Amino acid sequence: MDPKHRIVILGAGYTGMMAAHGIARRTRNADVTLVNPTDVFNERLRQHQAAVGQQLAVHRIPDLVAPAGVTFVQGRAAQIDAANRSVVLADGNNLGYDYLVYAIGSATPRSEHAFAIDDPEFAQALRDNAEGVLTVCGAGLTGIEAAAEAAEAYPKMRVILLSRGEPGSMMGSKARSYLMNTLDRLGVEIRTGVTVTRIHPHAVELDDGERIPTDITLCTTGVVHARLAAEAGIAVDDAGRVTVDAALRSVSHPEVFAIGDAAAIRQAYGTIHGTCQSAIPAGAHTAESITRILRGKDPRPFRFGYIHQPVSLGRKDAVIQFTNPDDTPSRWYLKGRAAIAYKEAVSSSPLKFYRSKSPIPSAFTKRTGGRHNPTLSKGSSR
Ligand SMILES: Cc1cc2nc3c(=O)[nH]c(=O)nc-3n(C[C@H](O)[C@H](O)[C@H](O)COP(=O)(O)OP(=O)(O)OC[C@H]3O[C@@H](n4cnc5c(N)ncnc54)[C@H](O)[C@@H]3O)c2cc1C
Repeated sequence: MDPKHRIVILGAGYTGMMAAHGIARRTRNADVTLVNPTDVFNERLRQHQAAVGQQLAVHRIPDLVAPAGVTFVQGRAAQIDAANRSVVLADGNNLGYDYLVYAIGSATPRSEHAFAIDDPEFAQALRDNAEGVLTVCGAGLTGIEAAAEAAEAYPKMRVILLSRGEPGSMMGSKARSYLMNTLDRLGVEIRTGVTVTRIHPHAVELDDGERIPTDITLCTTGVVHARLAAEAGIAVDDAGRVTVDAALRSVSHPEVFAIGDAAAIRQAYGTIHGTCQSAIPAGAHTAESITRILRGKDPRPFRFGYIHQPVSLGRKDAVIQFTNPDDTPSRWYLKGRAAIAYKEAVSSSPLKFYRSKSPIPSAFTKRTGGRHNPTLSKGSSR
């Protein structure tokens, strides 16, 4: 009997987990090894909840992958020896591969005197400053969700959200005005058109020299990418994401697939930005591609269209802007209870799948159209 193909997947986030399950459920002709620094799954979709101290369910990675026949290795990939097709872990162990899936996600940048969304100390700092001032720098979706969550959990806290542009500017006017009204109801003070130049221990400095006094600061601007691929000579873009072809293979090393936040995936409308809604289909697609290659077939091109921009606004409100495939807003949105239910379904569905034995649902793979739900009415909530 021929030896099994060795598939090593780096990163057990949403993407790596989907690729591992997809390959293991499709073929018995591969040894699938999943590598991650911790043995607990990081639910990034709920990171704003964890940040304010909510207790989240603990999902142990070995429990999620062992039933599918995937081997879990707890460790951090320290080096990829692309010429010899092996990965060196931080503990010195070596993993040889025939195909490598690079799914190490992105990291939150750190700044002095400010917390990041995944800082374990942030929740305690909020508790200690329940009647103080929290300044959130950056009103992308993470900044909005964190500000809303903190304002709801600590009604006596003054929450200031600083942004260059309008929060929710990528949404349609109705969803955006719902978002702004909800932030206002929660007492979040929004200052737009400002650029943060420096963060001091108890003040945030703007480009015009103004200093906003604060007790704690949360920085939510941007993500950074590890140098792991670049150091291995694998082609990356300016941000450090692996450059891939239409089938999600590295343009320099076709035996390496890259997916999720760690990959620069081009579509007709531009490069996909880091979201779970694109990461999971990319993981499922890579699983299909690798199993096709193992059967002597060519991988197919990956096609992806966005469907939504989901934003939770505390535990009691949310707004979902449905989109065209290129992420421009469509005429449809959800708000209030319907939006909360939708967002919860989106956030919990990956874990439900990893725990199940079912085939990959088409919702995880057929993301090419980005059509709205025909049961929704125009510009309304249910
Ligand atoms: C607060 C917040 C809310 C969000 N909400 C949404 C949303 O509503 N909808 C949406 O679509 N997207 C959302 N996102 C974005 C989404 O979470 C990411 O796009 C998604 O997690 C990317 O998945 P990934 O598998 O590429 O990376 P990750 O989920 O980050 O997983 C990467 C994994 O790789 C591991 N890793 C890192 N380095 C190494 C290494 N050297 N060796 C081995 N393993 C390594 C990490 O520990 C991690 O477990 C949100 C993000 C945040 C922060």
